[in-house]
Amino acid sequence: MMNSQPGTLYVVATPIGNLGDISMRAIETLKSADRILAEDTRRTQQLLTHLGIKGSLVSLHDHNEKQRVEQVAEWAQQGESLVLVSDAGTPLISDPGYALVSQLREKEIDVVPVPGACALIAALSAAGLPTDRFCFEGFLPAKRGARKKALELIKQEVRTTVYYESTHRIMDMLEDMQEVLGGERYLVLARELTKRFETFISGTVEDVLAQLNEDTDQRKGEFVVMVKGVPSDNTSALDVSSEDVLKLLLPHVSTKTASQIGASLTGLPKKELYQLAVQLKEGD
Ligand code: SAM
Repeated sequence: MMNSQPGTLYVVATPIGNLGDISMRAIETLKSADRILAEDTRRTQQLLTHLGIKGSLVSLHDHNEKQRVEQVAEWAQQGESLVLVSDAGTPLISDPGYALVSQLREKEIDVVPVPGACALIAALSAAGLPTDRFCFEGFLPAKRGARKKALELIKQEVRTTVYYESTHRIMDMLEDMQEVLGGERYLVLARELTKRFETFISGTVEDVLAQLNEDTDQRKGEFVVMVKGVPSDNTSALDVSSEDVLKLLLPHVSTKTASQIGASLTGLPKKELYQLAVQLKEGD
């Protein structure tokens, strides 16, 4: 379609499992698009076939996105109505599209969101964790050393932290969490959202690991991992307060009990409190 008016890029969310989650507006926008830019054209073709839409598909993924920008801008400047979709959920959220959207905006081309499913929002909406403030960290690094470093950063995080994870790394991730954040940190695991085996598992890192060890089916599928923040009043002078707590307890109870009570009171990992208690006892 040639037009004297500049066109628009519609950023359209698609379902994350249940096809019933596509919105009326998403269907209308897909129907009237001149071109649909898709992460994987075969996946999007399946969705279009299901919806009875004949679309003109163009691939746009991490490896060709930068080269595609000029071409897409040209189509938009010629007045085309363009749609960006990813394989599932909202484009740009751990999915391609950032380079395209930022550069089209720079060229003053209209970019319009057509909102819908997004795994992290679906997970948070039903997890029962604080949602007034949260931070989304996408996927943790694949390599263990880098992953642990990234986890170190949320040791004292007061907000709920949200990660995406796949079946291949879920156990490694939880094991690293146990080591870095301590077995006592509370988390919720949302698996296979909107699909047949949708499950929410919650508890301490230790509890959740035990459940996944017991039932290996629970390691399968796609995951959103939500880690509860530490109580906000523990963020200042933490070392001083945990030390004070232990100094009060150690004359009366065992090192283990002191560190357990200390961990509950401060929200810090039991292991950390235990090490501090041992040091304090050695210093006596
Ligand atoms: N753009 C998508 C969105 O809006 O959620 C996310 C794409 S990202 C490449 C894929 C990751 O999202 C999966 O590895 C998983 O962590 C999470 N995810 C996607 N669908 C999910 C689902 N149905 N249940 C749980 N997690 C899901």
